[in-house]
Amino acid sequence: MHEDFVKAAKIPGKLVIEESETASHAKHAWIQARKSSDFSAFAPHLEKLLGLARRKADLWGYADEPYDALLSTYERGARTREVAALFTKLKPDLTQIARTAVERGKAVKPNLLRGNYPIAKQQQLNAEIAASIGFDFDAGRIDTTTHPFCTTLGPRDVRLTTRYDESDFTSSLFGVLHEAGHGLYEQGLPEADFGLPSGRACSLGIHESQSRLWENHVGRSRVFWQKWLPRAAEIFPNLRKISLDQFLAAITRAKYSLIRVEADEATYDLHILLRFSIERQMLRGDLAVKDVPAAWNAEFEELFGMTPPSDSQGCLQDIHWSMGGLGYFATYTLGNLNAAQLFATARKQRSIAKANDQADFAPLLSWLRDKVHQHGGAFLPGEIMENATGKPTDARHHLKHLRERFGC
Ligand code: ZN
Repeated sequence: MHEDFVKAAKIPGKLVIEESETASHAKHAWIQARKSSDFSAFAPHLEKLLGLARRKADLWGYADEPYDALLSTYERGARTREVAALFTKLKPDLTQIARTAVERGKAVKPNLLRGNYPIAKQQQLNAEIAASIGFDFDAGRIDTTTHPFCTTLGPRDVRLTTRYDESDFTSSLFGVLHEAGHGLYEQGLPEADFGLPSGRACSLGIHESQSRLWENHVGRSRVFWQKWLPRAAEIFPNLRKISLDQFLAAITRAKYSLIRVEADEATYDLHILLRFSIERQMLRGDLAVKDVPAAWNAEFEELFGMTPPSDSQGCLQDIHWSMGGLGYFATYTLGNLNAAQLFATARKQRSIAKANDQADFAPLLSWLRDKVHQHGGAFLPGEIMENATGKPTDARHHLKHLRERFGC
C-alpha cells in the first residue's frame, strides 16, 4: 500500500491529466490508423505517449533503464535485464520449435472439427467443463463478449466472458478455459483482504500463468480429452467420427500467423519477443518512432520467415501502446514460463500426477490455492515462484513442454 502511495504521489496531477488526454486522443487515432493501415497517422501520438512514459519512469526512478520502471508497474520487482536474458535464451529454441510445429501442422486438416455447434449446446459443455476444473458458479458466471476476458466485480462475483463461433466449438471453449484459469485465481484470493493489495492478484505474469496452465497444460492434454471428448460427442454428434488422436492434433495444430491474438502455443511467444524488443529500443532512444514499421517488419521476417503485408497486420495491430501500456507485453510470456514451471513442479507430487492422469484436477487446484492464490499480492511475483517451485522463473520447463507437445 505504501509503495502504491509513493508511486502515485511522485506523479504530479498535471502529468496524470496530460497522460489521460493523450491516451484518449491516441486511442482514436490508433483506431483510424489501423483501419487505413497508416502508421504516420498514429506516430505523433505514440511519440507523445513515449515521452510521457519516459517522464513517469524518471519520476519513479529505475535500476538500469527506464523500461524497468514501466515493467514493474505490471510485474513488481521484475528487471528488464533479467527478462531480456530469459528472452534471449528462449529465442533460438522457440524459433526452431515453431518451425517444426508449423511443419507438422501442415499435415493436419485445418477444417477437421468444422461442423454445426449451436450456441446453447456450447454453453452447456463449457459450463460443465468450467465446473469440473473447480470454477465456482455460486461465486461467478460466464457471459458473451467480442473479446473474452475475466473481471472481478466484488468478492464472490467473478465474471468470465467468451465468444461463440457456431461452426467451431473450440473457440468458445478454449476462451472459457483460459478465462476460467484467471477466474480460479480470483476466486482463490483471500476474501477477507478484498480491496487491499494483499487481497488482489500478485502480478500480470502470475495471473497469466494461471490462465495458460488451465488452457494449455490441462485443457490441451490427452488425459483431459480422454474424459471430455466422449461427452462432447454426446452433445455434438458430428464429433463421433473424430478419434482422440485426430482431435488432439486439431487443437494443437500450429501455424504462423501475422496476428498475436490468433497465435497458437508454438508461435505465441515469438510475437512477444518482437514487441519486447521494439518497446525496449524505443524507450532507450535506440529506435525512432518513424522507424518502428521497418524495424517491426525486419524482426518479424527474422522470427516468422514472412513480412506483414500492411502495418495494420504489423505494428498497428495491438491496442496496448495507444493506451500508454508500454512495458506490458513481456508479462504474457512470463505467464507461459510460470505456467509450465508451476505445472511441472505440482506434478512432482505423486498424488497430483496420479489424479491428473485420471483427469481429476482437484489436487492440482488445491496445490495452486496453497502456493499461489491464497497469498494474493503479499509477495513479489519472483517470491511466489521461488516459494512454489524453489527457483525463479526459468525458461526450461516451457521449452520442455513445447518440445514434448510438438515432438521436437
Ligand atoms: Zn489471459
